[in-house]
Amino acid sequence: MKGDQHLITGAAVATFNVAMYEQIVTNWTNQPAVDLVINVKNFIIPQNIIVATIAILLFALGLLAPDCDSPKSTLGRFIYIPIEHRTWLHTAYIVITFAILGIFLRPFFLFAIGYFVHLLFDSPSKCGICWFNPSGYKHYSNGGKVKKGHVVILYFNDITAYILCAVVWIFVICYVLGVMDLVPSLETFVDGLDSKFESFVSLFIH
Ligand SMILES: [Zn+2]
Repeated sequence: MKGDQHLITGAAVATFNVAMYEQIVTNWTNQPAVDLVINVKNFIIPQNIIVATIAILLFALGLLAPDCDSPKSTLGRFIYIPIEHRTWLHTAYIVITFAILGIFLRPFFLFAIGYFVHLLFDSPSKCGICWFNPSGYKHYSNGGKVKKGHVVILYFNDITAYILCAVVWIFVICYVLGVMDLVPSLETFVDGLDSKFESFVSLFIH
């Protein structure tokens, strides 16, 4: 995916999470679960407005950072790290490292989440990515390599990547309309999902 596509899908994921948060704090009756969700949200987005703004900017940066291994990418034009594309910068190790850093320097937690969302949307591309580089590749005699056992392909070029962006946004808009109780059929659907999600969470949190 290109930089703008990562920003588009990242914005969709963020919007979906905000809507889901609203749905949980408004509808759920399992108070310990609601308290946990509020604490997690306050951890990820600190209440100090300056720290929260830095965190949100770092989320956007995290959405673009993995492609610093490509000199033509949105961020790579400014900060280029000369290593093979979609190898070390596209791994779970970096997400974990920044998530741990985020425990101490809070805004970096959102950077880690942005980074994770980038990897998530690169994963269903034609070649996929290898979350645990360098292991897990299938090597071909012509020098090519593809993630071993890679089967989920949702897009394979620029146009199909934009179609995926549109599909993700249509889903998010339907969800938001349901949460806002604007379309009765979507409201029924979202409330059904919501109550199932609450019962599932209640299995673990009482
Ligand atoms: Zn990438």
